[in-house]
Amino acid sequence: KFITFEGGEGVGKTTQIRLLSKRLNAAGIETIHSREPGGSAGAEAVRHVLLSGMAENMGMSPAGEAILFAAARADHVDTTIRPALEKDTWVLCDRFMDSTRVYQGESDNVPSELIDSLEKLAIDGMVPDLTFILDLRAEIGLARAHKRRPDGEEADRFERETVSVHEKRRQAFLKLAQRDPKRCKIIDASQSEEEIAFDIWTIIERELLA
Ligand code: C5P
Ligand code: MG
Repeated sequence: KFITFEGGEGVGKTTQIRLLSKRLNAAGIETIHSREPGGSAGAEAVRHVLLSGMAENMGMSPAGEAILFAAARADHVDTTIRPALEKDTWVLCDRFMDSTRVYQGESDNVPSELIDSLEKLAIDGMVPDLTFILDLRAEIGLARAHKRRPDGEEADRFERETVSVHEKRRQAFLKLAQRDPKRCKIIDASQSEEEIAFDIWTIIERELLA
C-alpha cells in the first residue's frame, strides 16, 4: 500500500510516519519511509536545488520550479515507490502530489492545467491508497517548525513566510480533502502524538487491513 502524509510546516508528519512504521512492522508488514521533494538519489539532488535557495537566487519561474518538483517526483516514483510496492513493501511518504497542488498551485499561482499535466506525467497512475492531511493552525505549526531547527541553521525559504500564507495553504489542503474524501482523511494535529497515531491507526485498520 501507498500512504502519503500531507499538511503544513511542523504538523508532525515525520513523527507520525515513524510511529505508523513501527506499528506496521510489528504487524509483520515491511515499510519504507520516504519524502518529497526527494526520496531517490536524483530527486534528492533536485531537492537541494529547490530548497537551498539556489532556484530562488537564480530567479527561477514558478512554472520552472513546478516542473523540477515533477521531475523529482517522476524519479522518486520510478526508482523508489513502484519497486517497493512491487515487493509488497508499504510506502509511507512525507508529502506527495497534494503538496504540489497547494504550494505550486495555490501559493505560487501555477495554472491548474500545468499542474494537472505535470501530475499525470510524474505519478503515472501512482495515486496513494490513503492520504492523511494533518491539520493544525498555521501559527502553532510554524512555531514548532522553528523550534526543531538546530541553533544557527537557517529556516528554509518556506518556513520564512508569513502566517497568513501558511493559513491559506492550510485551507487549500482542507479543500483538497473535501474534494477527494475517499482518499484524503483529515486528522486533527493539535492532539497529542499518541492521539494522532490512534486516529491514523483506526483508519488504516478500517480501510486497508480489514
Ligand atoms: O516537509 P518538509 O518541510 O521537509 O518540505 C520541505 C519544503 O518543501 C517545505 O517547506 C515545503 O514547503 C516545500 N515544498 C513545496 N512544494 C512541494 C513540496 C514541498 O514547496 N510540492
Ligand atoms: Mg520544512
